[in-house]
Amino acid sequence: MYKALIVLIVLCAASPRVLSQTKLSVHWEELTAKDFQAAIQKSGGTCMLPFGILEKHGPHLPIGTDLLDVRYATLHAAEQEYAVVFPEYYFGQIFEAQHEPGTVAYSRGLMLTLLQETTDEMARNGCKKVLIVNGHGGNESLLPFFAQTQLEEAHDYVVYVLGLVEAPAGGQPKKTTLDMHAGEKETSRMMIARPDLVQLDHAKDESGGDQKRLSLPDEVYTAIWWYARFPDHYSGDGSVATKELGQYEMKSWEDAIVKAIRAVKADNESLKLQNEFFEKAKHPIDTKQ
Ligand SMILES: [Zn+2]
Repeated sequence: MYKALIVLIVLCAASPRVLSQTKLSVHWEELTAKDFQAAIQKSGGTCMLPFGILEKHGPHLPIGTDLLDVRYATLHAAEQEYAVVFPEYYFGQIFEAQHEPGTVAYSRGLMLTLLQETTDEMARNGCKKVLIVNGHGGNESLLPFFAQTQLEEAHDYVVYVLGLVEAPAGGQPKKTTLDMHAGEKETSRMMIARPDLVQLDHAKDESGGDQKRLSLPDEVYTAIWWYARFPDHYSGDGSVATKELGQYEMKSWEDAIVKAIRAVKADNESLKLQNEFFEKAKHPIDTKQ
């Protein structure tokens, strides 16, 4: 055993490329075409699309906060449970922040078309299970619709969506109750993903308080609700963020993604059922009642 270990160390020292060649990157863009084939094999055709956005994040966090955070969590999860991770994607729903500098809000039609063509292209390359990992609140209005409309026409792949994940209760305690955007939680997460980009001393430059400028029952939805409550695109207080909370939040998110990858890998029913459904949908009149 001891002897074998020495031989291994000597081998590795003599040829460092031996080890690096055996470890496949989880990054789509880092793989060679040949390694991509091996990666699809290794992942069982399970690929992830971490979905961010470009929008203001209070007075103290970077515009790409959601993109940076979701990629951090997804890439770390993929290291634990292998899956191929698609490159930077931030073409989501963010009309509500168009009044703030740096927001990139693509049109409704383009958002849906681009996402469909992206998942289609992923599938054409062997990703028969596409897990979209959402990192941005505004995409929660887009992704369920996108996923549901996968039944519009037949696909030879399945789209799964992991929406925003709440950390389980009972962990690291939080100091604030209102915390929807660039507040305690998100600022803490960014302290883990990219601490160099957090300007904590500016977190109180603006108020993240609820302006409560609309009074409608909860059941009545209207798009301007967010602007009515948080016109500076800031909800909560980022100044109380801590690295400890960030670690807890990030770890919980990674755990949820790992759990989702494993569930998706184990799921052999969805595609079968989709195929059965589309076959019947071609001739509903013959469907047995
Ligand atoms: Zn955010």
